[in-house]
Amino acid sequence: MNATQPSDGVLVDRYGRVARDLRVSLTDKCNLRCTYCMPAEGLPWLAGPELLGDDEIIRLIRVAVRQLGVTEVRFTGGEPLIRPGLAGIVAAVAALEPRPRISLTTNGIGLDRLAPTLRAAGLDRVNVSLDTLDPERFARLTRRPRHADVLAGLAGAAAAGLTPVKVNAVLMRGVNDDEAPALLRFALAHGYELRFIEQMPLDAQHGWDRAAMVTADEILAALVGGFALTADPTERGPAPAETWLVDGGPARVGVIASVTRPFCGDCDRTRLTADGQVRACLFATEESDLRGALRAGADDDELARRWRAAMWGKRAGHGIDDPTFLQPARPMSAIGG
Ligand code: SF4
Repeated sequence: MNATQPSDGVLVDRYGRVARDLRVSLTDKCNLRCTYCMPAEGLPWLAGPELLGDDEIIRLIRVAVRQLGVTEVRFTGGEPLIRPGLAGIVAAVAALEPRPRISLTTNGIGLDRLAPTLRAAGLDRVNVSLDTLDPERFARLTRRPRHADVLAGLAGAAAAGLTPVKVNAVLMRGVNDDEAPALLRFALAHGYELRFIEQMPLDAQHGWDRAAMVTADEILAALVGGFALTADPTERGPAPAETWLVDGGPARVGVIASVTRPFCGDCDRTRLTADGQVRACLFATEESDLRGALRAGADDDELARRWRAAMWGKRAGHGIDDPTFLQPARPMSAIGG
């Protein structure tokens, strides 16, 4: 463990991990109501003035890229596609030197319409959430009959060249855990790259139940009956997903097993919320305010200094298995993937 925080340079923490991957939540609002994320009535959304403006977001990302060594920027939400200024923000980030890789995590609704514009603005690739191939089950899971829109969004992303198109699927016991092989067949047939995500204790209702979570071992067991999975020779590095070649490859499948196979030791993520808070970890219970400093006239050096200080204190891991584990007050819908 490092004893002294460096006064300049990249976003390093006490354990020597360097954050290069910035996740930016552009809104806490969403046009779906997934049962494992939020209640049917939604949540008390962040009010207008609390939200960072487009210029404020662009400025903070510029500081991160130019002064803090960030090389990846991922836009998340809530649902980032509902942010009116999204294309302009993407274009401004794509114009930065050095140019970061730019991706987006979305529920796919409206992506068929927006994909060409976002691609032209500089978006490189997308991850689209899809937990089921059954429209009725989708409507029960998300409380919205928008399954066809998500499939159209996936196809639109591929057609626009936002590749590789990655699909994120969360399996829940007794709900959609029977669909693992079918989801993989669907992804293979369309050339999408599928990752299964273990459900995490980040829901707004604080109803996460470990016993109901489908583990990585169970997901893999459900797949090996129909597919030959072999170790993926690609270097994993800090990537959240553990990946396997399917039927000899090159197609791959991934599992993001934050709970049963944590990967915190190699974590390279830093997060900025839609209301200007830095989160050192998805499960952080503390946040550092950049919005206040920014609006009080802080210069870029000061913003960079505060961001470094926020990351220096990052904990070794999420601590979910720790008896003292506390689920963060801020729900996933206001943090972003
Ligand atoms: S739980 Fe936190 S430390 Fe672990 S990989 Fe995720 S963001 Fe990184």
